[in-house]
Amino acid sequence: MMPDATKTCPECAEEIKAAALVCRFCGYRFNGATAEPSAPEHAAAGVAAVPTPAGTQIGLDTAAMLGGAVLVAIGSIGPWATSPLTSASGTSGDGVITLIAALILGAAAVLTKGRTIAGLATLVAGGVGIYDFIHIENKLKTVTFAGVQIDHVGWGVYVVIVGAVIALGGVLRRQRGPRLTLIDDGD
Ligand SMILES: [Zn+2]
Repeated sequence: MMPDATKTCPECAEEIKAAALVCRFCGYRFNGATAEPSAPEHAAAGVAAVPTPAGTQIGLDTAAMLGGAVLVAIGSIGPWATSPLTSASGTSGDGVITLIAALILGAAAVLTKGRTIAGLATLVAGGVGIYDFIHIENKLKTVTFAGVQIDHVGWGVYVVIVGAVIALGGVLRRQRGPRLTLIDDGD
């Protein structure tokens, strides 16, 4: 910090007087300037000192949840167990559950601001995916899964699990409510 006299303009990086409300080089207006405020949010730096608008934050959360939901849905329809001759899609087994969970997750991500429903749907999808992965893996050579003599685990299971992990990231990122402050939990 300079002890006195000057500060650096955040727009043009020129040194100007510390008491200046307007940069004499580029016209940047500092907070507290009485004249019409020129929007500082298009400033070069991407880091804003002001609280992040809720829309931006929720957009990221929602994007992760929606992307995860799409992956879970695709994985639910994809093969969960494959043999040399045929494959069983997830929807002939527990994929029905994960498909429904994906729909709930996607709807909750868009329609609600909270994360309870989306979180539960994510846990269901991920839990079923992981459970079935272990289950299918264990029964590889001995038992059929949904009528298919299993040769190996189908890619659908992996996609479901990956989708659930991505959605979980969105769920954990989302705040409990439409609050503006991100870190402050109050005290
Ligand atoms: Zn300037």
